[in-house]
Amino acid sequence: TSVIHTDSIAKVYKMGTETVEALKSVSININKGEYVAFMGPSGSGKSTLMNIIGCLDTPTRGLYNLSGQNVSEMSENELAEIRNKEIGFVFQTFNLLPRQSSMENVALPLIYAGYGKSEREERAKEVLASVGLGDRAYHKPNELSGGQRQRVAIARALVNNPSIILADEPTGNLDTKTSYEIMELFQKLHDDGNTIVMVTHEDDIAQYAHRIIRMRDGLVETDNINDNVTRVA
Ligand code: ADP
Ligand code: ADP
Repeated sequence: TSVIHTDSIAKVYKMGTETVEALKSVSININKGEYVAFMGPSGSGKSTLMNIIGCLDTPTRGLYNLSGQNVSEMSENELAEIRNKEIGFVFQTFNLLPRQSSMENVALPLIYAGYGKSEREERAKEVLASVGLGDRAYHKPNELSGGQRQRVAIARALVNNPSIILADEPTGNLDTKTSYEIMELFQKLHDDGNTIVMVTHEDDIAQYAHRIIRMRDGLVETDNINDNVTRVA
């Protein structure tokens, strides 16, 4: 079943008299359980497309359906609501609250979802344990390694059972060994049936995905099944 469906979406930025067509016409279908990597040179439209897929922005033209809901016409409030429910974000810079423990960071999306404190803590600890951080629940970000911080961020992304995990350069701030550990975790999430959409400019990282979409000049240049998926033993 289709989770992400875009039909001829375009995004035009107006700056004074100048206009930039960041996306010209992008039609993509991503089914539940797929693991997709987006690649492409700087300026090719990846961030713009991720902002739309992540319901942070809407297209200028065309249609975007997320889990069967038409996002293209949504108001700011509706976008915020669907984001909280459907999307788990993972960023290059982790974006954790520095004064809060791992558990509190992970529990944050559950506050917006309206869960009570004990329920939030229980669920946060359970998800932390699932990413291998059961013994780090009361540590703060500055007491953790880069890889551990990213795993906290991944736990936060998972805590609401979102329809998609949207990861923007998830290994961009990590050394090679730690990057592979994070890809190992993504492999596990994929095996568990999660839908993963990742942006990366690193070819060896993209090779962990089962489908690779290359963008150029606001268009999809190539969209291929990855026959040589890297798997960690
Ligand atoms: P990336 O590192 O993914 O290539 P960019 O550095 O191109 O991302 O963009 C970072 C952010 O700045 C994006 O969210 C984008 O919306 C915004 N941005 C990019 N180019 C411009 C621009 N010319 N004017 C204003 N904002 C921009
Ligand atoms: P990528 O992520 O692949 O680097 P972007 O989506 O950031 O590409 O940018 C695509 C094009 O749109 C670039 O020419 C960029 O300068 C422009 N752009 C992106 N965001 C904005 C913005 N907020 N305002 C104006 N131009 C933008």
